[in-house]
Amino acid sequence: MKNTNKENENQYDSLKDITEFQNNMFNPGHYIGTGKIPPTVSAPGNAMPLAVVCFIATIVFLGFGLFLFFGNVTVTSGGLIKSQIINKIIALVIMLGISVFCLLLGFRYFKKSKVFYKEKSTLQKEKIDETVEDQLWQRTCPKCGISHDFDYPKCPNCKFSYID
Ligand SMILES: [Zn+2]
Repeated sequence: MKNTNKENENQYDSLKDITEFQNNMFNPGHYIGTGKIPPTVSAPGNAMPLAVVCFIATIVFLGFGLFLFFGNVTVTSGGLIKSQIINKIIALVIMLGISVFCLLLGFRYFKKSKVFYKEKSTLQKEKIDETVEDQLWQRTCPKCGISHDFDYPKCPNCKFSYID
């Protein structure tokens, strides 16, 4: 029991964040200098779609860079650099940089979505525990064997009375 409490301490408490935001949303400068991020900006939720978009952008920028480098196209830098091969290398490096940035961003979103799915499955497990608790408040009729809520004075199926 102590262990689970400690685990919950480290878990992200969205309700606490939302309460803090609602109490201070008209208080300018509340978040400045605290290192905290309001939930409307940090947007806790499923980041998987964003991760997919980032991975697609990585491929698109990388492909565009390779197309500019190897394709039969002219890359210009407004006349600054005359050499075609240097222009192509610069374009490739820029596109490579953008695609690496997208890739890193994608991995970050992917990690965030893993936390989201983990918390979702934890919530679903808690729901299953609730149904087990519900079964504790059930009793089985000695006459017909059907299970029903504990507080019925009579069996809803065969009207067997528990009182007399
Ligand atoms: Zn019964």
